[in-house]
Amino acid sequence: MGRIAYVNGAFAPQAEAAVHIEDRGYQLADAIYEVWAVFDGRLSDAEGHFARLERSLGELRIDMPMSRKALQLLLKEAVRRNRVHDGLCYLQVSRGVAPRDHAFPTNGATPSVVITVKAVDRAAAEAKAAKGVGVITQPENRWGRCDIKTVGLLPNALAKQAAREAGAYEAWFVDDLGLVTEGASSNAWIVDRDGVLRTRDTNANILRGITRHTLLEVMAGEGMRVEQRAFTPKEALEAREAFVTGAGSMVLPVVSVDGRPVGDGTVGPVAMKLRRLYIERAKALSV
Ligand code: PMP
Repeated sequence: MGRIAYVNGAFAPQAEAAVHIEDRGYQLADAIYEVWAVFDGRLSDAEGHFARLERSLGELRIDMPMSRKALQLLLKEAVRRNRVHDGLCYLQVSRGVAPRDHAFPTNGATPSVVITVKAVDRAAAEAKAAKGVGVITQPENRWGRCDIKTVGLLPNALAKQAAREAGAYEAWFVDDLGLVTEGASSNAWIVDRDGVLRTRDTNANILRGITRHTLLEVMAGEGMRVEQRAFTPKEALEAREAFVTGAGSMVLPVVSVDGRPVGDGTVGPVAMKLRRLYIERAKALSV
């Protein structure tokens, strides 16, 4: 018998079950999940998993898609339809479907719900336990590979939402040393007090922005003074100008940080010149 999945209100053969391509779980990892072991067709250690589910959703400010009781019935129905005696029951809940944007959908999205069940061979599991298993060690780098343009964008989405709620366009991440790394969806720059263009070096853990890279070439061509050296938010406030770069924002002047003005709080000439030069260069590099 083929596996049966539950997706957004209906059970369907798993091979045919699908979510929308603009589901925020797929595009931004803006989702949580929970898993229950199934013993004798029943959800085991149930309370703990339901409690963690509610906590995870609460932390992301995603509504419980239905009451705990209704959800429990649905999970058990999924187990029953799959005729799984011993196995695992997975639940994924995402913020839902919305046009792609890091910040939360403004007119509210309905959380997407996916339930799948798989059988586990208990005898094989017991045999494995009887033999024991090996482990390897790995550096603790979870959420630490910002150089990869991954769809694992949950921290970026939460930061962008915080920016929106503060009436700002972008959020700049600040590291343990108090230095700006980059924006939630852009690279960060200043024109410092000495007129030097500064952006963080790419040895640090940031996305190697293509706009950033091309702009560095443009700056070199213009004979501008550039240093790939990190700056603090305070240095940004004291700078002549600040701006962000990215395929979406191109070169976008930044006039305030944490509600305080950068320089005199107006758009500066360097950022606007770079915006014009970058767009020219990007068009010249079009295919
Ligand atoms: N940093 C992050 C985290 C981004 O999401 C983006 C946008 N893709 C950038 C930097 C800028 O990169 P690019 O210039 O390649 O668009």
